[in-house]
Amino acid sequence: MPEILQNPSNFIQNEINDDLKNGRYSEGIHTRFPPEPNGYLHIGHAKSICLNFGLAQQYGGMCNLRFDDTNPVKEDVEYVDSIQADVKWLGFSWDKRMYYASDYFEKLYEFAVQLIKNGKAYVDDSNAEEIRAMRGTLTEAGKESPYRNRSVEENLALFEAMKQGEFADGEKVLRAKIDMASPNINMRDPVIYRIAHATHHRTGDAWCIYPMYDFAHPLSDAIEGITHSICTLEFEDHRPLYDWCLESLGFDVNTRPRQIEFARLNLTNTVTSKRKLRQLVEEGYVAGWDDPRMPTISGLRRRGYTPAALRNFCSEVGVAKANSLVDVAMLEHCIRDDLNNNADRIMAVLHPLKVVITNYPEGKKEYMLAENHPIKGGHRYMPFSRELYIEQEDFMEDAPKKFFRLKPEGEVRLKHGYIIKCEEVIKDAEGKVVELHCTYDPDSKTGGATANRKVKGTIHWVSAADALEAEVRLYDYLIETDEKGEVPADFLNAVNKNSLEVLQHVMVEPSAALTAEGTHYQFLRQGYYVVDKDSTPDHLVFNRVVGLKDSWAKVKKG
Ligand code: ATP
Ligand code: MG
Repeated sequence: MPEILQNPSNFIQNEINDDLKNGRYSEGIHTRFPPEPNGYLHIGHAKSICLNFGLAQQYGGMCNLRFDDTNPVKEDVEYVDSIQADVKWLGFSWDKRMYYASDYFEKLYEFAVQLIKNGKAYVDDSNAEEIRAMRGTLTEAGKESPYRNRSVEENLALFEAMKQGEFADGEKVLRAKIDMASPNINMRDPVIYRIAHATHHRTGDAWCIYPMYDFAHPLSDAIEGITHSICTLEFEDHRPLYDWCLESLGFDVNTRPRQIEFARLNLTNTVTSKRKLRQLVEEGYVAGWDDPRMPTISGLRRRGYTPAALRNFCSEVGVAKANSLVDVAMLEHCIRDDLNNNADRIMAVLHPLKVVITNYPEGKKEYMLAENHPIKGGHRYMPFSRELYIEQEDFMEDAPKKFFRLKPEGEVRLKHGYIIKCEEVIKDAEGKVVELHCTYDPDSKTGGATANRKVKGTIHWVSAADALEAEVRLYDYLIETDEKGEVPADFLNAVNKNSLEVLQHVMVEPSAALTAEGTHYQFLRQGYYVVDKDSTPDHLVFNRVVGLKDSWAKVKKG
């Protein structure tokens, strides 16, 4: 007997607690995550994964992974593989319980035959358009099909003939016989089987009839012993049909699964529909499903998101019964928080400006001790020499009073190093600043006589001869939205053409050499970065994960 959760934090836990108090599901709580393998998983799915696997953990139960593969045309093994990789990466395990709805095609067929025998299903010769026309509207009852009262024998024979491939696609369907006058349109004799002469990615050509989602789903849940079938709000109106299927086939109300709906995750500036994401990929708006601008789990991973950040985000978002729009800044807050605690700090100069320290001996090199992380600690050495790079924007020729970085005659501290003074500004023929000549205070580094001398600014730098040249990819939102952050219906027109900016010749301190894909850094003063899968020891490539500024933390403080 599973224990009641002591501090339920959402309505689903309350519902499950009530079920347990009422003596239902005494064998344990069993959930499932049921993706259709017709695309890559996205951040919305992450919410469903965290919820389903999370509930199983909280109640000491189990969660299955089930591929809902009843639609042979759109599905593909590429998606099956990516979905497994994504769920594992998020940190969840289905043990040996990975199933396919297609595993149940035979059983589902038998269930359908059972319904026919009980007078609860019939073969209809009407075509899709006629069925739609007879369905009625919200204010008007539907009309019964002329085929509705076929005999059980005739229905059995016709359904068998459908299965044997004697009819073309769309020529006949099997419908549940419920109530054409029901105020719930889903109950007006819904189609439960259709003909599709298509090759299925697992069952090949074995079947040419396929069960509809509303029929396959409750019965797959029941076959697997699922107790709580958690789905998004748009299925609320389908729940009576879910229950009807189970009731009609004699599943015991105390053990059979029950459907509970929750609000899907909607994020500002973000498309969360597989269909739309596929369009972005197939029409070349992005480089693939794992493009770092994509809200797919594989895109977020490549962008530098961590499993812990995504799980924290899902738990912060919570589970509600009403739809809402979550600010994408909250997602960014979660990864910033994680990387702030865990990413090592290094120096990288995105837009380099050469600095020559004229009073530093030519050919000399020394090593500055630099801290890797303010909390975790750890140290490394950074080479220092006569020629350095600093950030172009850390120098200003006609600087306002409040500019505390480098300016003519001004002083600044090099982080973990010396204080330097700008003595001369070198320009090219167009008047662009190309080099600074500076002097350094030899006693100003750690341990020196003037180590504690105060100057107002501290800037990052790298040694020119030692720096690694890297490519850095900066990202902006893929979709531009209105003030509310909502994605317009014609989302392809809202694609941000400037969502990717590539910087070549970024100068990174040498400690980053030989780091592998997925390594995170904070580039001091610049933001959080991750080593991309395109990176090699000869050509480093970083993605910017997120900047340093946290707009969400500010919102929260109010
Ligand atoms: P899409 O509209 O992106 O195709 P879907 O619901 O059709 O999504 P499925 O593969 O059927 O995709 O989804 C698997 C599970 O993930 C379902 O239980 C579904 O309810 C859930 N899910 C999908 N999108 C979201 C979302 N935005 N927020 C929360 N859960 C979601
Ligand atoms: Mg779906």
